[in-house]
Amino acid sequence: MPRIAILIGGIILSGCGADRSLSQIEQEMRSLDTLYLTAGSGKKITAAATKGVFVDGESGELCFPAYVCTNPECPGSQGDGQPFLFIHRDVMLRVGPGGEIVRDEMPQGRNPVDVIESRGGFANPTCPACWEVRRGRPETQAMKQQFVEWAQPYTLPVAAARKKELEDEYQRKAAAKSGSRRRSNVGR
Ligand SMILES: [Zn+2]
Repeated sequence: MPRIAILIGGIILSGCGADRSLSQIEQEMRSLDTLYLTAGSGKKITAAATKGVFVDGESGELCFPAYVCTNPECPGSQGDGQPFLFIHRDVMLRVGPGGEIVRDEMPQGRNPVDVIESRGGFANPTCPACWEVRRGRPETQAMKQQFVEWAQPYTLPVAAARKKELEDEYQRKAAAKSGSRRRSNVGR
């Protein structure tokens, strides 16, 4: 008899499996597709956001997640409604002889920001088109901060739409869960 109870329990549990848990929804949110650009030629590659920096098998270039410049007067904007995309390149990374990612060590006793800038990188995500206008120009701290805020991680339109659906699903589930918890508390 107990074996039958376990069997029935198993069937009920697997039935519940079709109903996704909150953590499963979170997992899908994190792994939605994102746009990557190769560091040299700027080739666009779509891959899971969880993938992180990787080497493009075709070109052998490093790929970084795309950023978008939201400065309304960004000189990189073509005025065709297409966002200006760029990457926040980690200049300490390079591709090793075996096609693997190698991280160069930060030289001891040097300011990391100086090292990054000497390699042509930026400490913060920085739009290269805006930078062409900004370089050598005096800037207040507030202006600097404004440019940091204009550089935003880019979200693919299809991923933004799916994220919205997942957020709705998450909220429905979370509300239903707290509702059932309240009901069971009443019974105690
Ligand atoms: Zn810009």
